[in-house]
Amino acid sequence: MQQLSDATLIRHKCLIGHKWVDADDGAVIEVLNPLDGAKLGTVPRMGSAETIRAIDAAADAFPAWSGLIPNVRARLLHAWHGEIQRHLDDLARILTLEQGKPFAEARGEVAMGASYIPWFAEEARRAYGAVIPVPRRGVQPITRLQPLGVVAAITPWNFPSSMLARKAAAILAAGCTLVCKPASATPYSVLALAELAKRADIPDGVINVVTGTPSAISTAIGGDFRVRALTFTGSTAVGKELMAAMAPTMKRLCMELGGNAPFLVFDDADLEKAVDVCMASKFRNAGQTCICSNRILVQRGVHDAFVKGLVGKVSALKVGGGTEPGVQCGPLIDADAARKCDAMVQDATGKGAKVLCGGTLLPDKGPGFFAPTVIDGMTPDMRVFREEIFGPIAPVMAFDTEKEAVRLANDTEFGLASYVCTRDLGRSLRVSAALEYGMVGVNDAVLAMPEVPFGGIKDSGHGREGGFEGLRDFMETRYTLLGGL
Ligand code: NAP
Repeated sequence: MQQLSDATLIRHKCLIGHKWVDADDGAVIEVLNPLDGAKLGTVPRMGSAETIRAIDAAADAFPAWSGLIPNVRARLLHAWHGEIQRHLDDLARILTLEQGKPFAEARGEVAMGASYIPWFAEEARRAYGAVIPVPRRGVQPITRLQPLGVVAAITPWNFPSSMLARKAAAILAAGCTLVCKPASATPYSVLALAELAKRADIPDGVINVVTGTPSAISTAIGGDFRVRALTFTGSTAVGKELMAAMAPTMKRLCMELGGNAPFLVFDDADLEKAVDVCMASKFRNAGQTCICSNRILVQRGVHDAFVKGLVGKVSALKVGGGTEPGVQCGPLIDADAARKCDAMVQDATGKGAKVLCGGTLLPDKGPGFFAPTVIDGMTPDMRVFREEIFGPIAPVMAFDTEKEAVRLANDTEFGLASYVCTRDLGRSLRVSAALEYGMVGVNDAVLAMPEVPFGGIKDSGHGREGGFEGLRDFMETRYTLLGGL
């Protein structure tokens, strides 16, 4: 952490109300650098009691925060965005240290996440209700959008900065207050964002951060009627558990869960471009993104040429520590994640797939490293077809017809992102309508930006982050009937 120009951005305590605090019993969680397992520091291991105090703080702050007129809230949010911009390099360093991704990617993540703040700050000024055409004489129905109240957010380790920033942007802009729990592996990015919110004069209690035992924290949230919504980004299995835990208090849910993205390359595609788009969608964050292409389906006529291009680019990726200049693929979050990749490759080769490059652990580089890999001959019975890989493995399979490609692409319970490479406009519209996914990238893989509704269907969850839809998840429609007119 010594490379930071502002070391006070590293907070080893949680933020509840106006105070940075420890766990009641002083227990801590160790935070490790995935590059070499070195200890970066500790954060509090909190439980139910501290979570309830965080909810108290958020509930106390709600009337004043929701009572601000939207352009005053917007000014405070713009100030927060300004603080993040000023500390972009430090925030990126913190992210690389705790998460492992290359510094340039980390900088991109912080900037991208922060860009949701001005978007939602302004979007809240346009959160219109309706004046409904009169249904009978003497009355006028109107609707307003009002903030839900206290919102809880639980975020993952793969995009610790942007996942919190884009949730907090919508939640705060809507007029809600926040209790958030970052992933235990990567809490410092979120704590630093909270510190910068304080410096931007976001009032005490509007943002509260609790680190600690996940089940104790979610049980407290699930049992507290004052928390009106939970927004969660993480695995589908945990998302389902949380849905059940939130049922007793009937919370609104926004679930951004796992994916199993198909990447379809048709024989009319611009192949060079298709390889570049595939690289961008597969190897960002060493393959640890929810929208990473997981299954690469290539029409038989261009299969060999596409695979040759892909192997060339994958073999040339520079693998190393996230702070080394020019590195494009860092370590996975831990040694278990690398071992899981190894097991998936062995499962695939055992069922007939061929490794064209990579395919091995890289213990000399560190315990979390796995070589960027291309395997050919994927079949639907392989783990790489069925499961979210979450690592730098690109499995390829050939197909013959458009119908077959769509059938294979939809043969999963997930429905987050999908990709199509084609130069045929009719095909791009036809196939994107037939794909059972919340998002389709045609000849492009950069799906996330503030202006668009990011999110999934089926086992990938529901709710949208970004776009005008993103604000609505944290507001409710209130209807008033004006009578006696
Ligand atoms: P995870 O294991 O589900 O954990 C996510 C968060 O949930 C962490 O903060 C974790 O806390 C917490 N958690 C775990 N069990 C909990 C419980 N019983 N109660 C309350 N909280 C609990 O997921 P992950 O491994 O961090 O993240 C990877 C997954 O996220 C992948 O499946 C990926 O696809 C998905 N993801 C989806 C999107 C999207 O937008 N759809 C974006 C990014 C990632 P601890 O860290 O303390 O265990």
